[in-house]
Amino acid sequence: MSSYRPSVDNVILASSNEKDGLYEFIVHMVDGTECRVFYNRTPEWKLTNISRLQKTPCPVCRKDFICRCMESFTGEIDQQMNEGQWFEKAATKA
Ligand SMILES: [Zn+2]
Repeated sequence: MSSYRPSVDNVILASSNEKDGLYEFIVHMVDGTECRVFYNRTPEWKLTNISRLQKTPCPVCRKDFICRCMESFTGEIDQQMNEGQWFEKAATKA
């Protein structure tokens, strides 16, 4: 088991389809890891997909190609998105 814990540092809205309630965010972690995260906000914000951007090696398995490690942090990242009010912050910056 890895001791890695994601820590959300900044969130940017990459794309959205407000009519369908679909949002794509780029989430920057404190350690430099970046993830592409998809949400459906109907009826409430729900994380539907997460994948690591392959700019830096995976903080968990150290691979620099596609892996699914970040999926195991879905709940934790979702919680930080809520606690940090990133939906509101990122949406108004778009
Ligand atoms: Zn990995």
